[in-house]
Amino acid sequence: MKFKEFNITFLGTSAASINPYSPTSTCLLEGGDTKIMIDVGIGALRQLHRIHIDSEEIDAVLITHWHFDHYAGLPALLKSRKSTSVLSIYGPKPSIPARIYLIGLLHSALIYFEAVTENFSKDCGDIHIETFPTVHDIISFGWVLTERIPGEQCGKRRIVISGDTRPTQSIINVAEGADLLVHEATYLDKHANRAYTHEHSTVTEAANLAIKARVGALALTHIAHQYSKLSALKEAEKIFPVVLVPSPLDTIYIEPLSDSAKRGNFGWGHVRMIGNRIIGKV
Ligand SMILES: [Zn+2]
Ligand SMILES: [Zn+2]
Repeated sequence: MKFKEFNITFLGTSAASINPYSPTSTCLLEGGDTKIMIDVGIGALRQLHRIHIDSEEIDAVLITHWHFDHYAGLPALLKSRKSTSVLSIYGPKPSIPARIYLIGLLHSALIYFEAVTENFSKDCGDIHIETFPTVHDIISFGWVLTERIPGEQCGKRRIVISGDTRPTQSIINVAEGADLLVHEATYLDKHANRAYTHEHSTVTEAANLAIKARVGALALTHIAHQYSKLSALKEAEKIFPVVLVPSPLDTIYIEPLSDSAKRGNFGWGHVRMIGNRIIGKV
């Protein structure tokens, strides 16, 4: 059978710092004919336009939690849509600051908003979406995105996105055998105490979790601005063999594999990261 494309583009990768050159947490998953955004951080709409995707093309938006760096781009995204089709947004019940910031928007007739709980599960075009509980200083969920192949039980590609969280068993449970785990790694191991205090994860913690979940590949994101990508990569590669540290507009493509090829150990993923997707486009 011919497999369709299954990839994730990192539109923004920064943690909470506000920097015009460094958009905050936003991913775009493209599977088959379906496009899903996971979190809509600062600068998300501009990043979408830079890769020549219109907000009208987005089928659904998933929110991990209502911290500003994960939803501040929503008003621009929603206001830019001109079509009469309804955009579905799934996320935890909005916090009071989020409700004030998004006042009116989530009640628009052109938006379907559903406050989800853990173990929410739904088919969304060519992708199946599920939540799982995570551990942060506000109610938060990670998301599992699995491709839907009608009539096919094997070889479905799966990406697990942690959102902001401490390392937790629930991620290991849902990420078991996933093609790609996208995990936050706000701090390096030398600042593990800060990760604990602020309810985030370190690079080392994310890499150890990837081993326990026996995932194919690990992508680290939400790295605090005081660290270089290289320092995060070096720390992770001491533990886990297939690590990617995407920059904004990098795309990770997941190659299809049979279930038997995925069985066994960790780091078996067939992934390739293409840098800066706007290159080569008009
Ligand atoms: Zn964050
Ligand atoms: Zn957060």
